[in-house]
Amino acid sequence: GGVLFQHADKYNGKLLGGLLADGFDEAACASRYSSFLYRKISLHKPSSYLISRLRSYEDLHKRCGPNTQSYNKALEQLKSGKKIMGLTDCNYIVWISFSGLGNRILSLASTFLYALLTNRVLLVDQGKDMADLFCEPFPDKSWLLPRDFPLIDQFDSLNQNSPNCHGNMLKNNVINSSAMSKPSYIYLHLVHDYGDHDKLFFCDGDQSFLENVPWLIMKTDNYYVPSLFLIPSFETELRNLFPEKATVFHHLGRYLFHPSNHVWGLITRYYRTYLAKADERIGIQIRIFDSRRGPFKHVMDQILSCTLKEKLLPAVDMQDSVVNPSENAKLKAVLVTSLLSGYSEDLRNMYWEHPTMTGEVVGVYQPSHEEFQQTEKQMHNRKAWAEMYLLSLTDVLVTSAWSTFGYVAQGLGGLRPWILYKTENDTVPDPPCHRAMSMEPCFHAPPFYDCKAKKGIDTGILVPHVRHCEDISWGLKVV
Ligand code: GDP
Repeated sequence: GGVLFQHADKYNGKLLGGLLADGFDEAACASRYSSFLYRKISLHKPSSYLISRLRSYEDLHKRCGPNTQSYNKALEQLKSGKKIMGLTDCNYIVWISFSGLGNRILSLASTFLYALLTNRVLLVDQGKDMADLFCEPFPDKSWLLPRDFPLIDQFDSLNQNSPNCHGNMLKNNVINSSAMSKPSYIYLHLVHDYGDHDKLFFCDGDQSFLENVPWLIMKTDNYYVPSLFLIPSFETELRNLFPEKATVFHHLGRYLFHPSNHVWGLITRYYRTYLAKADERIGIQIRIFDSRRGPFKHVMDQILSCTLKEKLLPAVDMQDSVVNPSENAKLKAVLVTSLLSGYSEDLRNMYWEHPTMTGEVVGVYQPSHEEFQQTEKQMHNRKAWAEMYLLSLTDVLVTSAWSTFGYVAQGLGGLRPWILYKTENDTVPDPPCHRAMSMEPCFHAPPFYDCKAKKGIDTGILVPHVRHCEDISWGLKVV
C-alpha cells in the first residue's frame, strides 16, 4: 500500500499528474520537480491523450533533435537550397526569439502546440537569454537551435517582404499548391503587424501546402492558439488533447517553462521570505500602457475600487476605531508587480496607517521596480520571469488589461483573474475590473477571414469555445 501511495503521490505531485516525464537530472533544474511544493494541486488534470502525445513528442525530439543523423540530413538539404520532392525524415519549426518576455512565453507555447499538431520538431532560437531563463523541457536532446544554424544571421531581418515569407509568396503567386516540389524552408510572419496574405496561415489549404516543407521558421509575438482551434483539420486532435478546452496554456506552460536554477533561487527566496507564511496571497499586476510617466491617481483609485468592491482586500477604518487586534488575525500578503514603486507604496501605507475593518493584517510586497522595460538586460529578464512566476503562486490574482505578463501568471497558476480594464481619459472605468471568463491568454491580433467563403467574417462568434477577449474587444480567447 505504501509504495502505491508514494507512486500516486509522486505522479500527481512532482510529475504534475503525468505532465512531466520522470528521470531528468534534478540538480540541473531544481524547479522542474519541486514546483509542486509551492502550488496547490491543479484542479485541471491533463488528459491521458495529451500525456501520451507529450511522451511521443519527446521520442520524436530525441530522434530528430540537434546533431542527430536526421537533423544533419535536414540541415544539408537546407544548405543546398534545393527544392524538396516527396517526404522527408523529420520536419522542423524554428521559433525566433522576439519581443518582451511575456510575449515570448506565449508565442513559444503556441508554437509548441503547432509542432504537436503537425508532427514537427520545435527548435528554439536562443536569442540573448532563453538558455539563461529556462531549463530544457525535453529529455536527452536540447530544444535550443544550434548557433551555427545557417539562417540564424537573417532572423532579425526576416519580415513580411522576405522572399521566402509565406504571405509574400502567396501575394506574388509563387506558391503553386499543386506543385510536387516544395521550397526547403518557409518563413512564417505572424507578428502583430502581419498582412492578409500572412494570415492565410490559419487556413486549411495553406496548412496542407506547408505539410511537407522540412523547415518552417516562425516569428511571432502572439498567443495564436485560439485561431488554431478554428482550423477544421486540427479540430479532432485538439478536442482529444484538451477535452477541457480552456487549459491549453495551463498545461503546455507548466510542461515547457521551468525556471532556470538562478531564476528559481529568485522565486523561492522571495516566496519563503514574504509569501509563505500568509493565510492568503493576493497578486496584483500593474502594467500601464501610457506614454506619460506614472504613477497615476486614477490607476490607484481603480486598483482600490476593484479590490474593495470584489472583496479581494479588506477596507480600512478611517476612524482608526479598532485598537485591539485579535491574536489570530488573518495575515494577507499582497504581491504587487509593477515597473514603478508608487502603487505598492500607497497600498502599504494605507494598511499601516489604518486598521482593517475585518481585523486582518495586510502586508504589501513588491520584488522590483525596474522603471522601464529593458528587454536586452539579463538580470532584468530574470526578474521579470521570477515575478510572473511569483504571481502565478498567489491564490487570487488581479491583472492589467492587454498585458501578456499577466496572462503568463494566470495560465501557469490556473487562475481566473480579475482584469483591470484599460482606463480612458484618466478616469476610473465603471466597473473597474471584470472577472475573466477563462484562464487562457488572449490572441491580440487574430485574423477575421472565412477561408472557405473567401471573405471577412467575425471569428469571435463561430464556435462557443472561441470568443472575444474581456480586455481587447477584437482579440480572441479560448473559453
Ligand atoms: P506585456 O508588454 O505586458 O505584454 O509583457 P511582456 O513581458 O511581453 O513585456 C513587458 C516587459 O516589461 C517585461 O518582459 C519586463 O521586461 C518589463 N516589465 C513589465 N512589467 C514588469 C514588472 O512588473 N516587473 C518586472 N520585473 N518587469 C516588468
